[in-house]
This record gives sequence, structure tokens and C-alpha cells, in this order.
Amino acid sequence: MNENLIECVGLCKTYTTDAENLAILKELDFSVERGASVAVTGASGSGKSTLLSILGGLDRATSGKVRVGEWRLDSLPEKKLTEYRSLVTGFVFQFHYLLKDLSARENVAMPALMAGKSRREAMERATAILESLGLSGRCDHYPSQLSGGERQRAAIARAIVNQPALVLADEPTGNLDKASAEGVRDILFGLPTSCGATLVLVTHDPGLAATAGKQYLLENGRLSLR
Ligand code: ADP
Ligand code: MG
Repeated sequence: MNENLIECVGLCKTYTTDAENLAILKELDFSVERGASVAVTGASGSGKSTLLSILGGLDRATSGKVRVGEWRLDSLPEKKLTEYRSLVTGFVFQFHYLLKDLSARENVAMPALMAGKSRREAMERATAILESLGLSGRCDHYPSQLSGGERQRAAIARAIVNQPALVLADEPTGNLDKASAEGVRDILFGLPTSCGATLVLVTHDPGLAATAGKQYLLENGRLSLR
């Protein structure tokens, strides 16, 4: 039994333009234990979002092995990659991407509905998760009626409604004031304990990364343990 949820071996990502080959990720070896929280820091443009997109099945490595659980992302057909994304991952971005015409509860219920849950079960789950994230009084609010921190907590609720094994967060506090950022930070780094998820968070902010169980630095296309 392999304890690592994520295992990347010799992961390379190269962008080819007319003028040149841009090597963004160079032969990364990267493993994450099940239930761990990991932060990857690095300067802007160092390839953090690229790495996260590959782990989330939104983008593909140029070469190398990428395994998440039972899923070999490097050899997965496009259709299966869609299935992987919806079954295994939850994404939190810098911007919340909540749908403005849906209430917080409806936004959170959406991925559960798309995964085939009944409307009633999806709404119940959404309510329970919103409550657990301190938004019990905000379920029927529309995104425009929520504060920045509340919106981001709703976005986290949406990311975890299908109980993903892997939560991926890309600069999740980038748009928030300090107090809201701390709330979001605590929720995200609490996910391994609260719902058994594994967390990989990328940020340029070393202060945010400091809460992680393990911290890596991405620099010149390579990862090193901090
Ligand atoms: P970070 O998230 O650390 O700021 P990114 O992963 O977004 O960095 O980008 C890493 C590098 O890859 C940047 O130099 C960026 O310009 C380049 N890049 C990202 N996407 C593309 C693309 N589709 N084509 C060419 N270059 C890209
Ligand atoms: Mg980025």
C-alpha cells in the first residue's frame, strides 16, 4: 500500500513558442503523503500555477510520471481527466468564481448536483458545509451580498462538497484583508483534519506557507524543501 497520494517523477513542463523552448518545470520529483498539507512558494512566474494545474488535471506535463491516487495523469485520456477532476480534486483560486445569480448554498451544491446527487441531498450537504465554515447565516445570500472572506469560504465549501481526496489552492488569500486571509488559511490547513483531504497550496507569500506541514520552494524549475 502506497502512502503517497501524489507521486511525480521526472516531471517536466516546457512551453514551446516560435522563438524558444521555455522549460518551466525541470525533472521534478515530488511526493505528498495522504492527509498532508504542503505549501509551494516561489516568485511570480516560477511555475506554481503550472504545477498545480498539472496536479489538478487542468494541464498536462510535457514528460514524466504524474500519479494521484490510482490515477496516472500522464497517460489518462481527456475524458478520464474530466472524471478525475470531478471525483478527486477541489480547486480554490485567488478569485472565488462563484456564480453571481446563485445563492451561496446553490453555488456550493452545484458540483454535488453535477456528480449526480439529488437536489435535496446536494442542498443539505451544501448547508452543512457552509455551517461548518461559519456561514450558517449566509446560505441564502448571493455572492454580491457576501464579504470577500465569506465569498472565499463559500468557494472552499464548493471545492470540498464532493469530498475530494485532493484540495488544490492557488494564492487563495491573494485578494483578502489580513483578518479574512487568516480565517481562510486556518480553514484550508485544517482540511486534512476536518475532512481527511490532502492539501497542496501554492503562494508567493511565505507567511501563508508557514502554516503548512511541509514547505517547498520552486525556483529555476526545481523544487527544494525549505
Ligand atoms: P506562477 O504561478 O508561479 O506565477 P505560472 O505557472 O503561472 O507561474 O507561469 C510560469 C511561467 O510559464 C511564466 O513565465 C509564464 O509566462 C509561463 N507560461 C504560463 N503559461 C504559458 C503558456 N500557455 N505559454 C507560454 N508560457 C506560459
Ligand atoms: Mg500563479
